[in-house]
Amino acid sequence: MTPSVSPQDLVARLRATFDAGRTRSFEWRRAQLQALRRLLIERESELAAALNADLGKSLFEAVNTETGFVLKEVDYALRHLQRWMRGHRARTPMMVWPGSSRVQPVPKGVVLIIGAWNYPVELLGSPLVAALAAGNAIVLKPSEVAASTSAALATLLPQYLDNEAVTVVEGDADVTTRLLEQRFDHILYTGNERVGRIVMSAAARHLTPVTLELGGKSPCIVSADADIDVAAARIAWAKFLNAGQTCIAPDYVLVEESARQPLLAALRERLLKSYGEDPSRSADYGRIVNARHLARLQASLTGLKIHVGGQIDPGSRYLAPTIVVDPPLDSALMQEEIFGPILPVLSVKDAAQAIAFVRERPAPLALYAFTRDRALQRQVSEDLQAGSACINDAIVFRVSPQLPFGGIGPSGMGRYGGWYGFETFSHMKAVMKRSFRFDVELRYPPYNATKLWWMRRL
Ligand code: NAD
Repeated sequence: MTPSVSPQDLVARLRATFDAGRTRSFEWRRAQLQALRRLLIERESELAAALNADLGKSLFEAVNTETGFVLKEVDYALRHLQRWMRGHRARTPMMVWPGSSRVQPVPKGVVLIIGAWNYPVELLGSPLVAALAAGNAIVLKPSEVAASTSAALATLLPQYLDNEAVTVVEGDADVTTRLLEQRFDHILYTGNERVGRIVMSAAARHLTPVTLELGGKSPCIVSADADIDVAAARIAWAKFLNAGQTCIAPDYVLVEESARQPLLAALRERLLKSYGEDPSRSADYGRIVNARHLARLQASLTGLKIHVGGQIDPGSRYLAPTIVVDPPLDSALMQEEIFGPILPVLSVKDAAQAIAFVRERPAPLALYAFTRDRALQRQVSEDLQAGSACINDAIVFRVSPQLPFGGIGPSGMGRYGGWYGFETFSHMKAVMKRSFRFDVELRYPPYNATKLWWMRRL
């Protein structure tokens, strides 16, 4: 946003574009998605450089979890857009024959998307795909914490997208606060629970619906019957991806007592294989986003039993992949979302104790279990409250555009991804069409017993 444009004028401009009907057509939506596709391909190296500056992301991670991820969402939306926009027919009750009924998706209007810093391209880009596909005018607010990526998005997006309908607003919490004073038709916020409450209160003033993509502590249960080597490889990958700064990273492991030593050994082995003797020299291992978060993570390790890692270099915002054994349950590590490369491993007697542990705590964004036990698999998929569940792997459920992504309770509300994102940014309008033929007297007063008899039956 140029400083001369107030949030009020900005939203008014986008609303005028929306009201003029420009964003509604299939052609406009397709053209915008195709333009975003070109941006992601042509400017991949600029985005990857910004992600590297902010988070030390390797090119592989930048493509796999950010640009390439959004590209797949774009392609999926382009493939399905026409069908999504068509809506669907619904049955028409006999009472209102002759007539036809349909559910017609229509854009909500002017929407606000507020991103977080840990996947700054994905967390803005994926909701953007959904909001464009749904035909909205859009304000994008990248996180100021990932400053290089925010600047890159603010430079690149206007070069490709319709500037009368899509705008990037950079800035800190004050800027977000001023934006939130405006009336939007939907707000999608990704970030922490505290700000989630602020966003929801601001939205309430205008009765604006919200999608809140929040965080929490995602547990990971490991049974003794699991393939421990495969489990360790997948857990280590999911935890140390982006240096642990992933909302759906396994936050902590609950391992059955008899599998504890084999798991700890296999995790150590895997870390060595992935990042070498000194992970600070691995180009594939990321960095903590800023000094404040590094200090928070460092403090959380004080006095704990470290199995692997723990090394810190404040100059390069480096914290080694770290595994902590049996931290006290009242430690910061076990009380707050870790959001960094520290994996606590806690022993449990059996699956029942693990289930009870998870049940006693707030509903997480994701829940993982490595097990061959069908009963435990069923409990994890059906009985325990969590935004998503994944059996015998972690994080990878995000690659499916057919699955909704969102939390429950303190981990968020609403969802996006593929159709679910389109649905989030659309209003599902009920449309019934009747003909002038056949106007049955039944519904009109004066009423009588015969009319009542017929009304009951119809
Ligand atoms: P952040 O600091 O980047 O904040 C996110 C946005 O909130 C920014 O755009 C910022 O400008 C705005 N903001 C900050 N303070 C504000 C205030 N007082 N008023 C109004 N706006 C304000 O990100 P964060 O919160 O540190 O993100 C980390 C959290 O996000 C973790 O809890 C993580 O689990 C969660 N997260 C969730 C998802 C998900 O998809 N569910 C994805 C990524 C991160």
